[in-house]
Amino acid sequence: MKLFTVGPTEMYESTLEVKKRKIPYFRTEEFSKINIENAEMLKKCLDAEKTAEIVMLTASGTGAMEAVVMNCLNKKDKVLVIVGGTFGKRFSQICKIHDIPYDEVVLEENEELTRDKLYKYTGKGYSTMLVNLHETQTGQLYDIELLSAFCKENKMFLIVDAISTFLCDSYSMKENSIDVTIISSQKGLCLSPGISMVALSERMQEKMKENIVHSLYFNFQEYNENMKRGQTPFTPAIGIHYELHDMLEKVLECGIDTYIEKVAQRANHFRKQVKELPVKIPQMQLSNAMTPILFQDDIAEHLVEFLRYEKEQMVNPTGGKLGKRSIRVSHIGNLDLCDYDELVENMKEWFALNQKK
Ligand SMILES: *Cc1c(COP(=O)(O)O)cnc(C)c1O
Repeated sequence: MKLFTVGPTEMYESTLEVKKRKIPYFRTEEFSKINIENAEMLKKCLDAEKTAEIVMLTASGTGAMEAVVMNCLNKKDKVLVIVGGTFGKRFSQICKIHDIPYDEVVLEENEELTRDKLYKYTGKGYSTMLVNLHETQTGQLYDIELLSAFCKENKMFLIVDAISTFLCDSYSMKENSIDVTIISSQKGLCLSPGISMVALSERMQEKMKENIVHSLYFNFQEYNENMKRGQTPFTPAIGIHYELHDMLEKVLECGIDTYIEKVAQRANHFRKQVKELPVKIPQMQLSNAMTPILFQDDIAEHLVEFLRYEKEQMVNPTGGKLGKRSIRVSHIGNLDLCDYDELVENMKEWFALNQKK
């Protein structure tokens, strides 16, 4: 089965090799070194300040999103959440559960976040923005320069869930004054699911000091204290930390821009070819990570099953209201251009078979 899904992804051979190894004991200098190097390499990939701190959590991305809300926000904040799909909605749910005051910038289905839309919220005393830079439900990649400028003008903290844009589109914490970045192992990094990482700017580290965190497991202060010696407070998903080390070395060796360029090539190659099919790609800024495809009719489920059972190709179904007439095809992971040629051929076959009826 070939995975054309956003996460987990089709993993690389070298990751699979690392995954085979025995899990060593972890309270050792050797493992500390791996963690410290991972944090340094991540900072490079995120273009973060030297003073940034990296928290490594054994949790899926949503766990990290919740941990960030618990550690970085409090009841005195006034949060603005960009809600352009199910992942945006998730940030709102988390704020609600933790009693953090928030408002939503709500986008209609496949509506682009424009300057006009955003600036309706300027000068209203917001303290922090929460955004999933690539809203993975719809495929929209928001304009980070627009968001960053808005936050600067309004003296807001900028918290970015970059889970499905990291290593797929260029990203710089420094250039865009991003205070917090959330990433996860199973998306652009193409590793096993299970760990998530949070990068905290110095400004956010200062702000966090006034917070009382009502959690034992998710208290970032504990993680930061332990990380000084390359350790985590609790048993981490040790194997994935080794996968991460292997992958970050490979990405940096290849060069981040070159690595991202390869993802972009796959996306462009697929987007060109898919135009031959009776489908639509939404007209908005998209991430290189994946292509959302819209159908005229409710055929998504049938097509997904055909590809999965007849062709051993797993594309990503879409969540929420869009689910019946949309699928998503990922460009992350160990896939070649010819894999996309095959996918398009198979989709053509499905349309030919089903148009005859
Ligand atoms: C995948 C993803 C997450 C995390 O989802 P989990 O299932 O908890 O790993 C969060 N935000 C975005 C934008 C994502 O694409």
